[in-house]
Amino acid sequence: MDATSATPMLRQYLEIKKQYPGTLLFFRLGDFYELFNEDAVTGARELEITLTARQKDSSNPIPMCGVPHHAAPNYIARLIKKGYRVAICEQTEEAGQGKKLVRREVVRVITPGTAIDPQLIESRESVYLAAICATGDTFGAAFLEVSTGDFFVTEVSGTGALAQICADIESFAPREILFPEYLRKVIENTFGVENTRTLIGDEVRTGSSSDRVYASGTTATLTPLEDSNFNPEDCANLLKHQLAVKTLEGFGLEKHEEAIRAAGACLRYAQNTQRATAAHISGIQYFEASDFMVLDGVTLKNLEVVESNRPESGSSVKRSLLGVIDATVTGMGSRLLRSWVLRPSIKRSEIQTRLSAVTELGDSILRDKLRFLLKEISDLERLVGRLNLGTASPRDLLALNRSLKQIPEILFSLSDAEALLLQVLRENIFELPDIQQLITRAISDEAPLNLADGGAIRDGFSAELDEFRDVSRNAKQIIASFEEDERQKSGITTLRVKFNNVFGYFIEVSKANAARVPDYFERRQTLTNAERYTTPQLKEWEQKVLGAESKIAELELKLFQEVRAEVTKETRNLQSTARALATLDGLAALAETAARRNYVCPVLHDGDEIEIKGGRHPIVEAFTPSIGASFIPNDLYLNNSTDRLLIITGPNMGGKSTILRQAALIQILAQIGSFVPADYARLPMADRIWTRVGASDDLAGGRSTFMVEMTETAAILHNATPRSLILLDEVGRGTSTFDGLSIAWAVAEYLHDSSGHAAKTLFATHYHELTELAEKLPGAKNYQVTAAEQDGEVVFLHKLERGKASKSYGIAVAQLAGLPADVLARAREVLEKLERYEIAVFSEDPKLNAALENAEPLEKAARRAAGSRMASQTTLFQMANDSVIDEIREMPVDELSEEELRAQLKEIKNRIV
Ligand code: ATP
Repeated sequence: MDATSATPMLRQYLEIKKQYPGTLLFFRLGDFYELFNEDAVTGARELEITLTARQKDSSNPIPMCGVPHHAAPNYIARLIKKGYRVAICEQTEEAGQGKKLVRREVVRVITPGTAIDPQLIESRESVYLAAICATGDTFGAAFLEVSTGDFFVTEVSGTGALAQICADIESFAPREILFPEYLRKVIENTFGVENTRTLIGDEVRTGSSSDRVYASGTTATLTPLEDSNFNPEDCANLLKHQLAVKTLEGFGLEKHEEAIRAAGACLRYAQNTQRATAAHISGIQYFEASDFMVLDGVTLKNLEVVESNRPESGSSVKRSLLGVIDATVTGMGSRLLRSWVLRPSIKRSEIQTRLSAVTELGDSILRDKLRFLLKEISDLERLVGRLNLGTASPRDLLALNRSLKQIPEILFSLSDAEALLLQVLRENIFELPDIQQLITRAISDEAPLNLADGGAIRDGFSAELDEFRDVSRNAKQIIASFEEDERQKSGITTLRVKFNNVFGYFIEVSKANAARVPDYFERRQTLTNAERYTTPQLKEWEQKVLGAESKIAELELKLFQEVRAEVTKETRNLQSTARALATLDGLAALAETAARRNYVCPVLHDGDEIEIKGGRHPIVEAFTPSIGASFIPNDLYLNNSTDRLLIITGPNMGGKSTILRQAALIQILAQIGSFVPADYARLPMADRIWTRVGASDDLAGGRSTFMVEMTETAAILHNATPRSLILLDEVGRGTSTFDGLSIAWAVAEYLHDSSGHAAKTLFATHYHELTELAEKLPGAKNYQVTAAEQDGEVVFLHKLERGKASKSYGIAVAQLAGLPADVLARAREVLEKLERYEIAVFSEDPKLNAALENAEPLEKAARRAAGSRMASQTTLFQMANDSVIDEIREMPVDELSEEELRAQLKEIKNRIV
């Protein structure tokens, strides 16, 4: 569209559009929001609505599509969920007679990270806006939940800084990430955005592949901002102003300029999009990686902490750890529990206070009562947000009142609480009787969702409003009684009060009676047969009647805003109450889960031992049908000395991965303050859980399965500490057998030996050869998950026992999976041959054993044993055949009889694969 040839309205559109790049502009025209040009094309496609055109017949038609204003929230929600940003442009003055162009302004910008409307956000999930910035290798990141005001910020320096920031991003899973232009390259590289021009930046984003995809599968919109948004001084001043402090010291921010910049940019963006100061953002929490147990994206995914890896099996949250333990009854409780599992505590005292509270809530009478009362509590955290952002509706105030009404009973239920945390929560919950009274007096029980629909303010709250309502409701009677009055006073029985659009209300008297009208009648109009009059009283009534409706709307708005402002003054107390109720809900949910699922209170200690008796996998257990099969509990013991590396072997499907994951999940549960699925658990405090589980490709990121595997393994080897728990599931599987085995071997040895990295490790493997490590290394132990064969079929016992598995059962599992009989028979034949060869190479070859003694990588040893001709990617089959050649070469042909030679040749021939 060319601005010069456009109509005034379209010029206005272009002018506004220019100020909001990167958004879809919803331009209000009467009862519709219209989108033009590119926005229209995108909008029509994404919303599946008809694309039309303005100035259709001209040589330059303008693409256009529109949605009715009353249906707009749903359409906007769909766009936001797809990652778009939407700017809402309203008419800000009445369209009057003779006015050519009404004023229009953008009143709000809604973006994925700043959405607050209930229909835009899930009640059980937090919606974070993030900002990242960096100077050198120091990174700052801020995470703000606009709907509740929760605000976190961190700063990391050094070589691992970006990786740590990425872990934080995975854990907060922000819907939108802000960054300064100068960081564009880093963002592109880190988040794998290939073509930034079309994907982010000034363009409206074009599709779902554009943005950050978390390990969990959700996406974030990437929003670059001009560098000036990250100016350190401006950011510090903005924060100080918002937090009402002279210095940021009290928030631990004074020496963290990157953190301040990220937080400032985040806050400014939130304020700009909301067009509000957002006073509920009244605090900020500075954290460092060492404040929480670190669970990076890979680990969150591998352990299915908040989302299942099998979304096809129903709700993906349900089959996750969070899904299993989330018995909360409020959205805010659920969000808090989610934040606990994403960032478990590492402070023993904090966990212990939660455990004591959960223990006390084990009393089912107390717990049931509290959960019953909590069910009636609305999402106060977000409600406080809406109060401060000026979007709280009359129904929100009613909901607040209903919630506050539960509080006396909640406080009463907690009055005898012994657990310290329950007492603290009690002290932080406020009844706020003044607010309750005010809302009860002011807001009608039948208040509509939208203030504009009228009826929000209760009768009796404002005499002025009541009068207008009376006028409006009784207009007809008032006029009738006025008419009757005037007839009586004047004695003119035919006097009539009438109404028309031009003169409004007037008194009509026939010409014959005109002489009898009283003095206070003022003539307005003379008709052929009648005279029309008005009186001061009629004028007053007229004004009241005619203005009543708009006056009512105006007054209701004013009164409602006053009430809302009064309630908003209690923001701090409301936030404290909301937070305490959410915590209570979270704790009660943990107690409920413990009771329902038979969990026990873990014993936490400062030592290094993990001792679990009768441990179960919380998710597998929850979804194992209770009839027929049931989950088989297992014991586990680890420490940092004698049992620091457990090599776990056993058949496919035997339960190796399950035992690994269950150890980690039990550790996570304990560190959020939950009871755990076991008969008994004594646990240390873990700083991080590392996982390298299963094979996964990151094709979008351009990394093969093996590359992913090695990158993750490298991160573990570099960063694990003695307080870490490491799960390695089949490391080395993604490459040729000997490469893989050698790597697995060396990794296991490294983890066992390296001082400073000697973390507790559970290593599940199909490489039986690794079991020899346990015999060699003092801190390594062999375990196996057991299986038995019955009538040629494998039966999984899922029992973890000391010792190494003797058999792999891979073919038996393949049979269970339905591989054709011929294939299975051939596989058995090949296996037999290979096994004979393997034994020769790995157990009996003196050269290999010598090499192992010297801890040389297996592959080298294996190659040496099999002869120097081997190619680097030799397969087991080639090696088996090559070994036959070696045998022939070394055969003492001259010393053997013909018969012996024939017999040996026959035997060798049989072994060729
Ligand atoms: P693979 O080597 O093929 O990866 P695996 O040994 O790691 O197999 P898992 O994936 O842990 O085996 O377990 C396979 C299935 O066995 C699980 O999905 C679960 O249904 C069942 N299972 C595992 N452990 C138990 C248990 N202790 N009790 C009951 N069922 C179990």
